[in-house]
Amino acid sequence: MKIVGLTGGIGSGKTTVAKLFESLSIPIYIADVEAKRLMNTSTLIKEKLIALFGDKAYHNNELNKAFIADKIFNDTAYLDQMNAIVHPEVGLHFKNWVKHQDSPYVIKEAAIIFEHKKQDQYDLIISVIADKDKRLKRVTARDQSTPEKVLAIMKNQTNDIDKAKHSDYVIVNNDKSTLQNQVLKIHKSILKRIENESI
Ligand code: ATP
Repeated sequence: MKIVGLTGGIGSGKTTVAKLFESLSIPIYIADVEAKRLMNTSTLIKEKLIALFGDKAYHNNELNKAFIADKIFNDTAYLDQMNAIVHPEVGLHFKNWVKHQDSPYVIKEAAIIFEHKKQDQYDLIISVIADKDKRLKRVTARDQSTPEKVLAIMKNQTNDIDKAKHSDYVIVNNDKSTLQNQVLKIHKSILKRIENESI
């Protein structure tokens, strides 16, 4: 089973693209969604996050997102510490999930592949790129986030040019109408590479 990484900056359209692969019967794993789920269900993560942030990390057995966001905002070292707790558990969960899939390849959507130098974990990498102003508009419309917050996240992410340079495939998502064709082309190419054993 080949592991294909799907990455891209905030609002680039990773999940939109992932769903198109899913419609081609490719299993998709959205790391961010699984991380959020595991933070509420894994006893180990819960214990470690309480040790890091204190009892207020959970409220009524649910992750206290506002409290944690505030902690991280005031001390960015907390983000690294939280990632060090959550990411290994997501990694283990993903490995186990892969074992239960039956497909030539699976897609793992993860925003931070290049940023955390995790390229080695993938057989191929697809990057979704889109104009910055479009991404900004999409995210502020979706999340009611402020442009300043979105721009601050963008600043910490690898830029599209570098992402594209280090990817096997690049999807340009400025216009939704072109997505399906781009995905289909890549899907066929991946299947061919697997068939030819060139990956
Ligand atoms: P994030 O990094 O924030 O998780 P993402 O890269 O997964 O985001 P999506 O969630 O797929 O991006 O898209 C962000 C928003 O933009 C969504 O509301 C989605 O419906 C919308 N969107 C995606 N692609 C386009 C497009 N080509 N045209 C207009 N809207 C789009």
